[in-house]
Amino acid sequence: MEERVYNFSAGPACLPMDVLKQAQKDFISYGGSGMNVMEMSHRSPEYQNIIDTAEADLRELLNIPDNYDVLFLQGGASLQFAMVPMNLMTKYKKIHAVNTGQWSKKAIAEAKKFGEVNVVASSEDKTFSYIPELSAELFTPDADYVHITSNNTIYGTKYTKLPPVGNLPLVSDMSSCILSEKINVADYGLIYAGAQKNIGPAGVTIVIVRRDLVENAPEDIPTMLRYKTHADNGSMFNTPPTYAIYIAGLVFKNLKRLGGIGEMEKINREKAAMLYDFLDNSSLFSATVAGADRSMMNVPFVTGDAELDREFVAEAKKAGLVNLKGHRSVGGMRASIYNAMPEDGVRSLIAFMAGFEAKHR
Ligand SMILES: *Cc1c(COP(=O)(O)O)cnc(C)c1O
Repeated sequence: MEERVYNFSAGPACLPMDVLKQAQKDFISYGGSGMNVMEMSHRSPEYQNIIDTAEADLRELLNIPDNYDVLFLQGGASLQFAMVPMNLMTKYKKIHAVNTGQWSKKAIAEAKKFGEVNVVASSEDKTFSYIPELSAELFTPDADYVHITSNNTIYGTKYTKLPPVGNLPLVSDMSSCILSEKINVADYGLIYAGAQKNIGPAGVTIVIVRRDLVENAPEDIPTMLRYKTHADNGSMFNTPPTYAIYIAGLVFKNLKRLGGIGEMEKINREKAAMLYDFLDNSSLFSATVAGADRSMMNVPFVTGDAELDREFVAEAKKAGLVNLKGHRSVGGMRASIYNAMPEDGVRSLIAFMAGFEAKHR
């Protein structure tokens, strides 16, 4: 077999080995069909079964209530920054939003094109290294919804509790944490996630939305940008990203085999604890996020010396630990340890860091 690396990319990210192997097995002829899934009509019974199974497995994994639609869309999480306000910012033409990083900012900028955005809190004062404290009074009822970014991919922070939004629908960008830990879908009005972090290949975006919120979207928004269009047509109003959905389906099956999100969360907690423990005890490396708001998925860290950081990233690459360079706005390093990153990958990274530290102390 070809040599594999441990890929710590923030996205597109690594996929589970079992999924890649299954896709390889299916590559020339899927299930006796004589063709690859990407050559298949999306209207064929074989494909209908693929998308139906993917949806059913996702519903089971996240325990999605029946009054929520599950949509497989295109355009990435970035299109959701516009689609959400287009469809939901209808009554008050005002929303509340929390600014916890670049993705939040982009969501806020798009929403502003459709109405008023009240930014209730921000962590920009400290390079987004924490989640702001949020009190119930911030969320006045004169808004259509509240927008948050559950896990901040670039800065490595995450919410550890729900914002006290009262009866307002909570909308969350879960691109970099969906399926990583248990959530209660009913706490949210709408959840969206681009697939390329924790679900599958780039090209499909998953939206989970409470049906009553999108039923009355304005008639004048473009057909393809109305959630209802996709909900009414089982995500097949037009050709869906068929292959990406197929791979996402394999990822869901793999998670079910593992024992579900609870099991996955346990492993993710162990992986993150191992890495943060090492960082907290290191004499060379330190984590850029302190305390409770640390992400389990994206772990930014630095040596404090930009030249040494560069050397570390280059040396790590030679050792088969790739894509550890941090986002340019934070600098240093970032290890993205999504669901598909095995515990052995994290152990290898820690061992390599310990060796680097011994050489450079
Ligand atoms: C990656 C990411 C995005 C952007 O996703 P695209 O699918 O590239 O549009 C948005 N939000 C978060 C939290 C992300 O991690």
